[in-house]
Amino acid sequence: MKRILSGIKPTGAPHLGNYFGMMKPCIALQEQGEAFYFIADYHALTTVRDPEAMREHTRGVALDFLACGLDPVKAVIFRQSDVPEHTELAWILSCFTPMPMLENCHAFKDHLAKQKTPVHGLFAYPVLMAADILLYDSNVVPVGRDQKQHVEVTRDIAGAINRTYPKAGHSPGGDGLFVIPEPSIIPHVATVVGLDGQKMSKSYDNTIPIFDAEKPMRKKIMGIVTDSSPVEAPKDPSVSTIVALYRLFAGEADVEKMEADFRAGGVGYGDFKKRLFDALWEYFRPMREKRAALAADPTHVDGVLASGAARAHAVASATMERVRRAVGLR
Ligand code: AMP
Repeated sequence: MKRILSGIKPTGAPHLGNYFGMMKPCIALQEQGEAFYFIADYHALTTVRDPEAMREHTRGVALDFLACGLDPVKAVIFRQSDVPEHTELAWILSCFTPMPMLENCHAFKDHLAKQKTPVHGLFAYPVLMAADILLYDSNVVPVGRDQKQHVEVTRDIAGAINRTYPKAGHSPGGDGLFVIPEPSIIPHVATVVGLDGQKMSKSYDNTIPIFDAEKPMRKKIMGIVTDSSPVEAPKDPSVSTIVALYRLFAGEADVEKMEADFRAGGVGYGDFKKRLFDALWEYFRPMREKRAALAADPTHVDGVLASGAARAHAVASATMERVRRAVGLR
């Protein structure tokens, strides 16, 4: 059975980009293999400096994931730092990782281009991500287009180590020390746009958290940036943030109706935003109800994370033992 692995950083409340780009496809994949989904608090530590926020967001992301349909019996959901083997393996991999390969990675290059000084953790994060993947002998890594480069880095590092230790114990079902993973670019999911029309991202402060309360969510939707076309003017649906977001929730007929109303003129952006809000609010209604039920028992999430950590640790510790023996640390 194939192993599937993906992670999400606890840097804030999960938003529509996280949901459509990662959570929804990962929930669908829990039916198709042995899925390991982790809350990437070690990765978040490159930016999060508030320990309470880190703890709160970690539990919040887990709660949101469960509310959206993640089944903790089928999939393993865990906190990355509950399995410290992630950092141990990252060090070993970093001893095989050429610096130029990391200098070429886009998150690091973006930082330099913006004249920011990256911390070492940001420079090295593709190596930690390689450890996340290799620790679980993952075959499939569902990622957005932006993460494909990092899976390629993982494949390069794993290939180099497999060639260095050809006689090492093999991964179960693999033909080398590490299983070489396949990036699986999540199909049909374009980058979800934020309130200002850029990529929806916590770092741009343009997100719509999926479980926002009604009032702030309505306020955010009404604040979507538009041009200043008057009500009567025909409008172009192909460049509209409202239509781009509406497509995520509405049925085909409703999307066609909105597009036709855009072209015809006579309807203002305020009305389109109301339609968008109603569709969004209805879409998440059952998940919101489930979330409220789960949150009623404050120990539930901690229990799920504890049992996920135990299941993840069983796999990770076996891999680590194999790796330590192969490289001579035992
Ligand atoms: P992060 O919060 O950076 O850990 O992202 C978690 C997952 O959400 C990753 O797989 C991202 O590719 C995905 N993601 C984040 N923002 C967006 C977006 N605006 N559109 C689509 N996917 C996204």
